Formats: sequence, C-alpha cells, structure tokens
Amino acid sequence: MSKRDYYEVLGVEKGAGEREIKKAYKKLAMKYHPDRTQGDKALEEKFKEIQEAYEVLTDSQKRAAYDQYGHAGVDPNRGGAGFGGGADFGDIFGDVFGDIFGGGRGGRQSRARQGADLRYNLELSLEEAVRGKDVEIRVPTLVECDVCHGSGAKKGTSPKTCPTCHGNGQVQMRQGFFAVQQTCPTCSGRGKIIADPCDACHGHGRKEKTKTLSVKVPAGVDTGDRIRLSGEGEAGENGAPAGDLYVQVHVREHKIFQRDGNNLYCEVPLSFTTAALGGELQVPTLDGKVKLKVSPETQTGRMFRLRGKGVKSVRSGVTGDLMCKVVVETPVNLSSKQKELLQELDDSMGGDSGKHRPKEKGFFDGVKKFFDDLTN
Ligand SMILES: [Zn+2]
Ligand SMILES: [Zn+2]
Repeated sequence: MSKRDYYEVLGVEKGAGEREIKKAYKKLAMKYHPDRTQGDKALEEKFKEIQEAYEVLTDSQKRAAYDQYGHAGVDPNRGGAGFGGGADFGDIFGDVFGDIFGGGRGGRQSRARQGADLRYNLELSLEEAVRGKDVEIRVPTLVECDVCHGSGAKKGTSPKTCPTCHGNGQVQMRQGFFAVQQTCPTCSGRGKIIADPCDACHGHGRKEKTKTLSVKVPAGVDTGDRIRLSGEGEAGENGAPAGDLYVQVHVREHKIFQRDGNNLYCEVPLSFTTAALGGELQVPTLDGKVKLKVSPETQTGRMFRLRGKGVKSVRSGVTGDLMCKVVVETPVNLSSKQKELLQELDDSMGGDSGKHRPKEKGFFDGVKKFFDDLTN
C-alpha cells in the first residue's frame, strides 16, 4: 500500500511553516477525531494518517529526513534491508545512508551521531503564561567533555582508525553466496578506536552535567505549546551536532478562570436582589477588579462578555475576551424576620406566576401538556 504524501495529507505547501502546519492539523483533527466519527474505520485511519503527518512535519529532524528520503526516511516499520523495527532516527538515517553510499565507498568517516533531543516539562501558573516569564531551568544532559573536546581520547593522543573496518564502521561477512554488511564488532560502528581513553569521560567524549538555562517564555503561551532551544539537547557523538531542547508548557488550573484559546471564563455569584433590581457587580480580571453593570431582571446563567479582558495570543497577537457567567445565589441563614419578608413578597406576587415568573409558567404548561399527551 502506498502512503500519501504528508504535505498532501495536511493540505499544506511543502515549505509550510510550523504555525501553518499546526493550524491545518488542528482543523483536520477536529473534523476527523474518533469522538466525532463514531467508529467509522475509514475515517479512523484517516485520523491516524493526519496524526502521523503532523508528528513528522513538526519534528525538525524527522521532517528533514522525510523531505530527503520520503517515507523511508521516517518510518521504521517499512521494509527494506537494514530497517530494524523501533530504531531511532539516527540509526535509520545511518542505514539509509549506508545502503546508498556504503560498502564499496572507502574512507567514509565514522557514523557520527547527532545528540538526542530533550524535553523539559515547564509548569506555569495562568498569570505567568498570560504575561510571559523569564525562567531558569536546570536540565540534566550530556555535554561535550571539556578535557578531550569530545574525541574521547586522552590528552595528547587521538582516536585511531579502526583496523578491522578501516574506518567504515561496517564489515562484510560472507554467508554462502551472500555478502552481508554488519556493524563492525571492534569499534561498534564508530570507525575509530580509542587506545588511551580520556580520564575525565572514560572515552565517551561526553559527560553528564546539569545545565542551567534561561528560557524566555513569551506572553500568551498555553498548555501544549513548546519552546525549542536549538542545540541545547544532548551533545552529539564524535563531534556531531547536539540535539535540541524542547520546553513543553503546562499551565496549572486556576481557581477563578478557565481558559479556552484566547478567551477566559469565570463564574461570579450574584445576589438575587441585584439580579431582580439591577445594580453593579465586581468582576475579577487578570488585571484586577472591574465593575459590571447588571440590568434589572437578570437571570442566572447569563453570560457577560468583557471585550479584551482575555489572553493575548502568542501567535496572532489578538486579545481574547473574558466571559463572565453570573450565578444567582439563594440567600442562606435567614432570620425569621427575613423569612417573613420573603413570604410577604411571595404572597404579593400571588398565584399569577405568569407575570413574575414566565419561565416557571412556561415550564409547567409544558409539563401539563406532556402528561395530557401521555394519557390520550
Ligand atoms: Zn573526555
Ligand atoms: Zn571498526
């Protein structure tokens, strides 16, 4: 079965930026999410295809491999010699490279491996996410050994070309008629051996170290956003480039506000007297309290929109709104005098619920019709 082009799957141009890809993905994911497609197998497959395309195209390494080698560059489950299942990208790249250029081509340098990408989970309060923050993070990682500068060899010496594979990292083994390429057992595929290992890193060329990095978190980030620090991942082997560090943002729940995109939502209690007579209400925003005018006869659950009191988008720069839902609070701990007054109020409204409580009247009229229809 041939696979569709990832760019085609997401409906974006080949040179599309990450933002554009994210946007296209979000739209498609909403449309084809299994929650919506209700067990339709074909659509489920489509959703998987969309997810796969998104995963590859938003990962700079995988995308580069895909652009260069197509599906073979990123899919470890596809056939072809040398594609071990579950191999990481570095291995696949090496194998593809080896299949095309390896073997007869002498003098190829050892397989330098790029350092691994790292992920750091950063928790922020809603206020921090909305305003942005400079944070210092401490990340345990592998850095280039400063004694041997990554070579792994003792000071004054240098790694020697492996005598078994002559630097290829691979050796040919004969099995009957077939010549099979194998990773060199002497140098484990590195192409070089270190006779005198560096004392500081025991020949690894890299050392464990906890790095302290300052990260500028831009205002408006939300859970799921990630900030890439290029080259701050693990150091590469044999002088290969370092990986990247991804700071994954997670925003903690807030006591008052819930966030949805650029809008904030909150609930504010409203006394039933103010609800009936109208008045002013104090509403919290992220910049402090503001006054909200409540018109007479405001019903519980009514939503007020406070324009521009939401979150400023980190991408578009557009500021969202604060959606404030008023909830009428039934009074508690009433004295007998207060209860009397309430009863008096209720009596004054008499049995004519239609005038003062149209919703109640409409409801019970509906209930009556429901039972009438049942008995007929
Ligand atoms: Zn060293
Ligand atoms: Zn070797």
